[in-house]
Amino acid sequence: MVIFLVDLKDPIIKGYLINLVGEEGFKVVKNMPEGEVTDEKISQETDVLLNIVRRTLFILYENRLAVYRRERDSDSGWLTYLWKLDLDNLNSQLEIEAKKLLKNLKTKLEFENNKVFYVCEKQDGRFLFETAAELEFICPICGGELKFQENELTIKALKQRISQLEEMSSGTVA
Ligand SMILES: [Zn+2]
Repeated sequence: MVIFLVDLKDPIIKGYLINLVGEEGFKVVKNMPEGEVTDEKISQETDVLLNIVRRTLFILYENRLAVYRRERDSDSGWLTYLWKLDLDNLNSQLEIEAKKLLKNLKTKLEFENNKVFYVCEKQDGRFLFETAAELEFICPICGGELKFQENELTIKALKQRISQLEEMSSGTVA
C-alpha cells in the first residue's frame, strides 16, 4: 500500500474524498497499489468493480488527484493506461475550501456584530432594525409584534466555527 502524506483517517479528508468519489471510490484510494498500475490491477487488488474504479480514477484525475501515463504494448500495439494517485494537491484543495468558508463566516460575523435584529415571535422572519422600523415593528405576515433579538448565541457559534477552521488550516500548512 502507498504511504501518503495525507492522513486518510482524518475525518475532514475522508469526508471530502467520499463526497467526491463515494464509499467504493474511497476504498480505491485507500487500497491503491503502489507505483503505476492499470485500472484492471487496481480493480483486482482493491476488490472494487472495474467500472467503479474507472469512474473513480476519472473523477480523481479531473480534480488533479490522480495522473496517468499511456504506454504502448510493443507486442500487441495496444495502449495501456498506467495510473498513479497524486494526493499532494489534496491539502491545498482543502485549504482553498476552508479559506472560502472562513471568509464567508467572517463576513457573516461582521454582519451579526454590526447589525441589530428584530424577529417575529411566530418565526415568520428576521429583520434588520432599519426594516423593522419601516414596518413599524409589525410582522408583515402575521401582524404580530416584532421584538428585539439577542444574537449573542449566533455570534458565539460563528466565532467558535471560525477558530476551529483557523486551527485546522494552520494544521494543514505544517
Ligand atoms: Zn409573524
